[in-house]
Amino acid sequence: MPEDFDVIVVGAGMAGSAAAIRLAQARANVLLVERSPEAGAKNLSGGVLWGHDLDRILPRWTDEMPLERHVVRKRFGLLSAEGAVSIDLEDERWRRAPYGAHTVLRARTDAWLAHEAETAGATVVSGVPVEKLLWEGTTVRGIVQDGAEMRAPVTIVADGANSRLSLGTPIRPDARLDGAATELGIKEVYALSSRTIEERFHLGPNEGHAEEWVAGIFPEGIMAGGFLYTNRDTLSLGLIVNIGSLFGNRTASHDLIERFKLHPAIQSRLAGAELVEYGAKLISSGWASRPRAFSGAGWMIAGDAAGFVFSNGIVIQGMNYAIRSGLEAAETALAADAAHDASAARLREYDRRLEASGILGDFRDFARIDRVKWNPRIYTAYPALAVELFHAMMSEDSQPKRTVRKIFQEVRKRSGVSTTTLLHDGADVARYL
Ligand SMILES: Cc1cc2nc3c(=O)[nH]c(=O)nc-3n(C[C@H](O)[C@H](O)[C@H](O)COP(=O)(O)OP(=O)(O)OC[C@H]3O[C@@H](n4cnc5c(N)ncnc54)[C@H](O)[C@@H]3O)c2cc1C
Repeated sequence: MPEDFDVIVVGAGMAGSAAAIRLAQARANVLLVERSPEAGAKNLSGGVLWGHDLDRILPRWTDEMPLERHVVRKRFGLLSAEGAVSIDLEDERWRRAPYGAHTVLRARTDAWLAHEAETAGATVVSGVPVEKLLWEGTTVRGIVQDGAEMRAPVTIVADGANSRLSLGTPIRPDARLDGAATELGIKEVYALSSRTIEERFHLGPNEGHAEEWVAGIFPEGIMAGGFLYTNRDTLSLGLIVNIGSLFGNRTASHDLIERFKLHPAIQSRLAGAELVEYGAKLISSGWASRPRAFSGAGWMIAGDAAGFVFSNGIVIQGMNYAIRSGLEAAETALAADAAHDASAARLREYDRRLEASGILGDFRDFARIDRVKWNPRIYTAYPALAVELFHAMMSEDSQPKRTVRKIFQEVRKRSGVSTTTLLHDGADVARYL
């Protein structure tokens, strides 16, 4: 059968577009297929992009890509019903090129990246949901859409979390994602003028602020982390929720975000902002969510579809891994094209590249991070304990002064967490986080 393309890439997210750009720059005949009418239209992401892997294909991306703000301050904190404790990192290096992270809105960045792929020479087709991969035995020969086949020696699967193209196939034999390795992302976008954002968050022009919270505010035992990021003239706000902790609860995702927004530490920054967008999406993160293999005869899988999202409660990073894995898949496809060989053995080079680029190491090394990230005490006892501890240390109540140790023992006792449990949890944090 004649081939229609050298490489087919499914999904114009960060992974798929990065792959298509690299392939087109190397003059491969590449098709990039996206189900949304425009790339990015359905892509929901909290929005802190660590994009330095883009240097490999778009050296001027920080000047040309529609970025929102460069992040100059990151905050991490614990929210309890009574208050909030947080740490700010302000790093002078983030104030100057090449900067650190940028806040982004995916509708803008993804449309731009797909356009870059087209400019480089890729055939970009939007508004076409690929139905399935074209399997012949254990080999992928391309894609099927509306009963029509499109053939290529190599197909890169980059269709995001809940990858319908891989579920129930030899790539991911289970027809569903593993619930234990799946999280629910909820996000809202609020319009607020640039000037108000800069005044309210103490930022200069184009400077951004990003914060992540352990949301110890859901008494039903729901475990969730929250985020708030500043864009040019909008704020992105949301929650990453442990799906298992939602079971048996009647709380709707909308109620969760309402409660997060009403916390005084968050609410004060939203005054006058107007809701303009709401969305929810699954996230499959970490080593446990990896597919059976990352490559096989005629195929490779990249980005969220491969489970390459790192989240530890302090950061969530997936776009960087999406770009890097997309680029490694593209390099492998180019080598396969040159050798006229897209066998499983040849495409295993992708696995080697994932290893050499540090992606697999990052996920393997943090394989047991869920022990810390989804420890229920992190969302119940500890935020309250931290707030009480700092409250006692930083207040004056006409009582005799106590040492930190004494205060700590008092609030620990009140929290109901034994010293042994605390030591175990502390050891887990040191070992797995
Ligand atoms: C709430 C939330 C907050 C997040 N915050 C951050 C953050 O701050 N920083 C960060 O780095 N990461 C964050 N992430 C993770 C990040 O969004 C993902 O890791 C990243 O988007 C992965 O890119 P991708 O290209 O692999 O997949 P996606 O961005 O999901 O792209 C997949 C593309 O494939 C298309 N597609 C799907 N199925 C088909 C089909 N059958 N046919 C054709 N096209 C198809 C989709 O429309 C989409 O365009 C967050 C995620 C969520 C949900």
